Amino acid sequence: MALQKSYDVAVIGAGVFGAWTASHLARRGHRILLLDSYSPGHSRASSGGESRIHRMAYGADEIYTHWSLRSLHQWRELFAGKNLPLFRQTGVLWLAGEDTTQLLRTQETLRRCSVNFLHLDRPALERLYPHFVFDNVGAGLLEPAGGVLLARRALVATVQDAIARGVEFRHAAVVAPRSSGRLSSLSTLAGEKISADAYVFACGPWLGKLFPGILGPRIFPTRQEVFFFAPPPGDSRFAPPASPAWLFQDDQVYGIPDIESRGFKVALDWHGELIDPDTQSRTVTPAVADWVRSYIARRFPALAGAPLTETRVCQYENTSNGDFLIDRHPEIDNLWFAGGGSGHGFKHGPAFGEYLAAQLESNSNPEPRFSLSTKQIHQRRSIF
Ligand SMILES: Cc1cc2nc3c(=O)[nH]c(=O)nc-3n(C[C@H](O)[C@H](O)[C@H](O)COP(=O)(O)OP(=O)(O)OC[C@H]3O[C@@H](n4cnc5c(N)ncnc54)[C@H](O)[C@@H]3O)c2cc1C
Repeated sequence: MALQKSYDVAVIGAGVFGAWTASHLARRGHRILLLDSYSPGHSRASSGGESRIHRMAYGADEIYTHWSLRSLHQWRELFAGKNLPLFRQTGVLWLAGEDTTQLLRTQETLRRCSVNFLHLDRPALERLYPHFVFDNVGAGLLEPAGGVLLARRALVATVQDAIARGVEFRHAAVVAPRSSGRLSSLSTLAGEKISADAYVFACGPWLGKLFPGILGPRIFPTRQEVFFFAPPPGDSRFAPPASPAWLFQDDQVYGIPDIESRGFKVALDWHGELIDPDTQSRTVTPAVADWVRSYIARRFPALAGAPLTETRVCQYENTSNGDFLIDRHPEIDNLWFAGGGSGHGFKHGPAFGEYLAAQLESNSNPEPRFSLSTKQIHQRRSIF
């Protein structure tokens, strides 16, 4: 069955990158079709989690600080227009080990970008957060304007807003093209034809499966386990404002305070094993659960033995170093890849979409760090 309508752009994938790209293209007056195999924010999508940290701190990688700022403004605007409390300004506390080089670089960048922060030495940290244990922590940096996005619901709000702006959403799985040259149409698994002037594949961890020759070796989907613990009854220290979102840089562990009593979230930022997003088990690994229990007992003694109330298994969709991928297919010049969120992409959805919409209109070459040619086949993470 052929669709009668033709679109300016078909965006495949309604995760945070695809949804915001569709939204920005519609704001610019384009006819947009947004497709996804499932509903936006489904439980296997990288954007489908309960919550995501929004921080401006990115070491010396100033472009991401700019994008975070720009995005925070747009998230706030979206939520304010609909009276949705989906951004919680909890503050974000970044904790460095004895080596504070990255923390100091971050401070320089934040100063240049006029982002307010507090440098906290050990005594200040212990005074402000007596329920945390700061062993091996050299210093901390608190971003009072940072916080937490209630991710899945924020994505649904983005798609609803995009639809209100004229985007057509279709629940369909798209078959990746195998041709070269200019692409005139795409097919869905159900046999429909989609016709557009340009195509954006914003398929997160699925990008490597869809384009195995080009992206198979360049997108590394890794297993990431997430744990929610119930604080003791009547104890509000693990909820905002007493607890901010936090990252222990040397441990590569981060967390989100107890919001809406979902529990105190703790997750590992180091990359798990390579997985297939369709088939990986969504049950946490007992050994990792034990490790996390002993970790919280050490860092947050009042949570020792706390009931584990919820778990999630998601995946990062890493590029070799953590820079995003926003570039054209090397053999199909009206097909764009949009992904590589690499465990830090959610917050950037609005700025990502705005940037890609402008790229599509101008058909210009991407910023080098987002280009396909900079994506290696071996991982060496440098963006944190
Ligand atoms: C545990 C965890 C914690 C994280 N923490 C943070 C954080 O604190 N802060 C932060 O900023 N970021 C964080 N991230 C990263 C962030 O969530 C991701 O980078 C971001 O959500 C990626 O979005 P995406 O749109 O690229 O991918 P996705 O959300 O996975 O969306 C891709 C979509 O494409 C669809 N799709 C795939 N193939 C097809 C097809 N053939 N046809 C149609 N549709 C298709 C899928 O169904 C899916 O909905 C975290 C990620 C994880 C997993």
